[in-house]
Amino acid sequence: MARARYDDLHCGEWRKKKKKGVTGAQPCLACGGPYDSWAHVLLGCKCPGVSGAIITRHNGDLRALGRGVNLGRQARWLRLINAGRVEGNPDQATIPDWMMPGEREKPDMVILRGWPVTAGVPSGVVREFEGTPVQLHMVEFTCTSEARLDDRLQFKRAKYRPLRDRLRVEGWAVSEEVTAVAIGVRGGVHVDTAGWLGELGIEREADADKVINIWSGRCSGATRVW
Ligand SMILES: [Zn+2]
Repeated sequence: MARARYDDLHCGEWRKKKKKGVTGAQPCLACGGPYDSWAHVLLGCKCPGVSGAIITRHNGDLRALGRGVNLGRQARWLRLINAGRVEGNPDQATIPDWMMPGEREKPDMVILRGWPVTAGVPSGVVREFEGTPVQLHMVEFTCTSEARLDDRLQFKRAKYRPLRDRLRVEGWAVSEEVTAVAIGVRGGVHVDTAGWLGELGIEREADADKVINIWSGRCSGATRVW
């Protein structure tokens, strides 16, 4: 990971190979993947030890976002989060059967705005709770190369539009767009980040900073993937 952080994979190894007369893209030594670069190791390597760490990083960052939501104005609404197994509990489905039977897509987080967490889980489609409209809101978190942040955001927004439409057919009110949140894998923070957190009710600067510091600290400290 340290090699990826300091671009050794991209520069040092590559230059060494070039000296020996080897040119062009070199396969990853760990998984045989397409190109031995920092972006590959931090984002796409299929070697189980590395890919497991990539998933752990994603889940940790997503839980940090969930804790951030707990500090903000949407803390009281029921929230489903797909951030890996916790203490032996099974993965939490973010589109469970009571929401839509048989759905396979799993957004990272779904907030039932208007449905209090204290009311338990609804048994089916609900449009209001004691006079307050209930609306589903989907959230996606992604960690990617700094150069691709905007691409990934657009990809995530487009990816969940069909699910939004299926949920609407089922009878749910669903917000127009998923809130897509992206962080650069080397600690880069997108200029719109405060706006995304605001969409999730994290409005106080100190609360937003807590979440962002966890994300960028995790990535930029030593470019660990965990
Ligand atoms: Zn690899």
